[in-house]
Amino acid sequence: MSEIKSEVEPGKPQLIHARSLQAWFCSWRGQHAESERLWRLCLADNIRIHYEAHVDTLIYQSNITTALIAQAKYADAEELLDRTIPVRISLRGKDHPDIIQSRQILAVVYHKQGKYRKAEELNREILKTADRIQGSEHPDTLIIVNNLSTLLRELGRFSEAEAMQWRLLASRERQHGSEHDQVVISRINLATTLEKLGKYSVAEEQNRLALSAQKKLWADDNHPTTLNIENSLGLVLLRQEKYDEAEPVLRKVLKSRREVLGMEHLQTLISQNNLAGLLMKQKKFWESASLLRETIHTARKSNNGKENAFILRMMNSLSEVMRQGATEVPETERQIVFQEALALQRTALAGRIRIFGEDNPDVFTSQYNLAHLLHDMGQCIDGRKLYEKAVEGLVRRLGKKHPVTIECEENFAVCENHG
Ligand SMILES: [Zn+2]
Repeated sequence: MSEIKSEVEPGKPQLIHARSLQAWFCSWRGQHAESERLWRLCLADNIRIHYEAHVDTLIYQSNITTALIAQAKYADAEELLDRTIPVRISLRGKDHPDIIQSRQILAVVYHKQGKYRKAEELNREILKTADRIQGSEHPDTLIIVNNLSTLLRELGRFSEAEAMQWRLLASRERQHGSEHDQVVISRINLATTLEKLGKYSVAEEQNRLALSAQKKLWADDNHPTTLNIENSLGLVLLRQEKYDEAEPVLRKVLKSRREVLGMEHLQTLISQNNLAGLLMKQKKFWESASLLRETIHTARKSNNGKENAFILRMMNSLSEVMRQGATEVPETERQIVFQEALALQRTALAGRIRIFGEDNPDVFTSQYNLAHLLHDMGQCIDGRKLYEKAVEGLVRRLGKKHPVTIECEENFAVCENHG
């Protein structure tokens, strides 16, 4: 009975091994459904030969989870992780790096499904464990820091995100030096948060550091990351009223994006919107308005004629440009300009409430701009009601020291005092 068989029987280790190679190959080629199917066969055969808690079983379960996440089957991934993490804990103890990693993936799966509270709680818990077991600078610990800061930014909790992001940047810089892709990315993300918090000069500094490192890493002047940093730099210069410095930066980004990405690409449209914002501040109202009209038109066309958050943002801007530009047209035409501005801002406000709900900084900004417009039109009674709502919301969501809050309170005072 020592005859060597040429065929491999189902359920034999050799077959499992061959299948697992095939599964790796599929996953490498991006065929995640097929790789999930193969990993499941490996798992079933392995349990038949060995036992539930066999080390290979745990590996196959991890690989199935990865394949599920790659296919955006998050509920299935969550169910599998819920079932397997307790088995892993019973084998390896709660503080094992493998458990930290599995739970970190579970937090991602929560996040992807919009279960933000669960994702945050789990991330904070495993971060404590990872700090203690792996150390605060370990790459796996930093992944958790990064995920938690991304989550906080998505939830609009920028001050909490900022603390995490400084920590991440410092650790990555100590590990890699400043001229490293990951350090550059950390800086860009931090600068975005700082901009949201109204800390413009610190944001400018971080953008400049990112840009100089990026230029040493990549010779290409049109590299997408380079353009992102320049765009962000242009915006913080604009926020600091350094208009002459901002203009060449924003014009260069727009020119490059038009050439590289085409006229209808979202990034190109965002650039047009940003340049229009600068032109408004420079009081070049009509150039700004025509750029915004063109951008809204293109963005609507590629969104099947519907509005989205970006289009609503531009409508808000166009309405503001017209409100400010109205002072420059003859009185006979001023009311026509005001009426169009009013229609635009009402659409923007209603759309933002529909998308974000009532309690949102962009909604309060629209209410503020609408109040300002009504004041300019002499309809101050309606204006003041909106100002009250806007001030309350901006103070609560952005804080008393935020530039938009300060501006809104100043203009409210003007409206209240003029009778
Ligand atoms: Zn008024």
